[in-house]
Amino acid sequence: MRIRPRDIGGGILRGFRKILDFVFPQNCIACDDKIQEHVLCASCRDDIGFIRQPYCFQCGVPADISYAFPHEEFVCGVCRQQPYQFDQARSLGFYDTVLRTTIHHFKYRRQMGVLPEMDRLLEKYFEENPDFCQGFTVSPVPLHFNKMKERGFDQAFLIARQVAKISKLPLEGGLLRRVKATSPQATMTRVERARNIKGAFEVNRPELVAGKNILLVDDVFTTGATVNEAAKVLKKKGAGKVHVFTLGRVVVGKDHSAL
Ligand SMILES: [Zn+2]
Ligand SMILES: [Zn+2]
Repeated sequence: MRIRPRDIGGGILRGFRKILDFVFPQNCIACDDKIQEHVLCASCRDDIGFIRQPYCFQCGVPADISYAFPHEEFVCGVCRQQPYQFDQARSLGFYDTVLRTTIHHFKYRRQMGVLPEMDRLLEKYFEENPDFCQGFTVSPVPLHFNKMKERGFDQAFLIARQVAKISKLPLEGGLLRRVKATSPQATMTRVERARNIKGAFEVNRPELVAGKNILLVDDVFTTGATVNEAAKVLKKKGAGKVHVFTLGRVVVGKDHSAL
């Protein structure tokens, strides 16, 4: 069969279109409705449940308090029984919403078109919570080297970089390093996760940790075992306050599948 130049042009166009669809899908990634721009339609964007007061002052877990309670003093049962090593943790929204789809497209499908969507969410969150990390150094929870090789990019770093930019804070990408490969934690309980992650981190740059307040950034907070272990090693090297920020928060009773 003779290939005419027009066919070649069409093929290139189709190929280009495929690449464009991959980076900027024409359908909402959550509900599949047609969209003109970005990756989420307006109603799916509205479905992202931002976590707002009332929540536990320490770990940030949303609290079921329906009456006028002094929010600042509320500490959940978990934090009262077995406090975390970090001082405070906050998450942008409930993981079990459109946020899960968004994070998955970003993390497993490397759909970079999701990044501007995340940037908008982060800007909104830090506009509402400007005081959470003032004076902190931003640092991502490191991925293990093998995972980095497998995925080719580090989602915690990308989120941390954006948080630092929005909040005008210094970003230190290499404060911690992962020294132990860990098993996938999806089906583990809090205790199993803590055991699995123990000894996984070391401080890379002790001189940048001692006396500094550090904001640890990750994509999802499930039981807090990973960020807790990271906070522990930072505190051992003399870190001041350690705060944690994640995009998503798994809340027991709201998201059983992720536990
Ligand atoms: Zn949608
Ligand atoms: Zn708590």
